[in-house]
Amino acid sequence: MRFNTKLLHGKFPSDWSGSTLPPIYQVSAFAHESAERLEKVFLNKEPGFAYTRIANPTVAAFERRMALLEGGMDAVSCSSGMAAVSMALLNILSTGDEIISSSSLFGGTFGLLANFEQFGLHTNYLSELNAETVEAALTPHTKVIFAELIGNPKLDVVDIRELAYVAERHGLPLVIDATTATPALVRPLEQGAHIVVHSSSKYINGSGDAISGVIVDGGRFDWDFEKYPALAGYQQMGKFAFTARLRQDIWRNFGACLAPQNAWLNCVGLETLGLRMERLCKNSLALAEHIEQNLGMAVNYPGLKSNSYHALIAKQMDDGLGGAILTLRTGSKKRAFSLIDNLRYAKIATNIGDVRTLVLHPASTIYAHSDEQTMQLSGVYDDLVRISVGLEDIEDLIEDFTLASIVMNGDR
Ligand SMILES: *Cc1c(COP(=O)(O)O)cnc(C)c1O
Repeated sequence: MRFNTKLLHGKFPSDWSGSTLPPIYQVSAFAHESAERLEKVFLNKEPGFAYTRIANPTVAAFERRMALLEGGMDAVSCSSGMAAVSMALLNILSTGDEIISSSSLFGGTFGLLANFEQFGLHTNYLSELNAETVEAALTPHTKVIFAELIGNPKLDVVDIRELAYVAERHGLPLVIDATTATPALVRPLEQGAHIVVHSSSKYINGSGDAISGVIVDGGRFDWDFEKYPALAGYQQMGKFAFTARLRQDIWRNFGACLAPQNAWLNCVGLETLGLRMERLCKNSLALAEHIEQNLGMAVNYPGLKSNSYHALIAKQMDDGLGGAILTLRTGSKKRAFSLIDNLRYAKIATNIGDVRTLVLHPASTIYAHSDEQTMQLSGVYDDLVRISVGLEDIEDLIEDFTLASIVMNGDR
């Protein structure tokens, strides 16, 4: 099965009377015919469901399809993308451990890694994440390498194969946040990454109608149980130790489960992921080219020929698609606000991956509470505008940005 066929025909866990989508099991608990049977379900000796925080058939359907799309062994879904990032890292780390991370991160992830310091988990940020910089930053306490595939909003792209190679060499898992790329563009597990996380609130859901996250385990990392004592209790699970501990321990206990209704909305959204990404990326490239060539603003879009990541995008991503986020430099905060306020179609909202175009001034919103250094590391400037390109007709988007930029230039 190829990708778009998988989106529609990838096996769900059971057949549900032929229903083409999973039913929404909107319940908290599942009743069983005997105490013995519930005991077996609890001990994982028989398949079945007990309580929705632990497992739910609608949620399981979404997880199954995500695992299939990413080429993973299993997927665990979460209440949000932030929950997915937290759970993926807390599942393997113990006090005193260190994370090596790209310094170009989603604002919330920056905040989370700062929270981790309170529990003795330290992050070494690298402004360039490659084999050389990682080698130089390794310490005996390094336990994981973390990166966003296409950094948001810096839009730098990591070379997964190169990072996976260093990670393997040092016995470290490579965890990739692939939110901005999606499996429609690249499946990091196929290129050597060990764990993939998503904010499925974005492109996977697609319509901006539910918050959620997902963790996909490739099931190929060879866990050293002395180095990762957090997983030691799951040693008999071998390569499945990561997901086994998530499900039976940390994810279950933190209670960051996905609601069945939201899992169902994701199942619906997923079916058009391939189609949407293709069109969103095409629109993004066309809009980026138009702004660069005709509107006199510097544009950052990895799919542009002039972009320094163009060659990597061409090599690493299906059909050389560069994602659907672009940023532009307007010259000042006043001009940025003017451009944003004069757009007709682009909604002013702090989100990405919607069907409609969204626009944001990152410095005064998601980075409003960040210090100068964090902003610089994340490629956030006072005059920067971020665009999450939507499915509108490209002619309308081009017209919209052209007219808004004329007004902005008059404003000056
Ligand atoms: C949005 C986002 C998150 C956080 O996801 P939520 O669903 O908002 O909790 C994490 N990483 C990236 C790259 C994101 O864009």
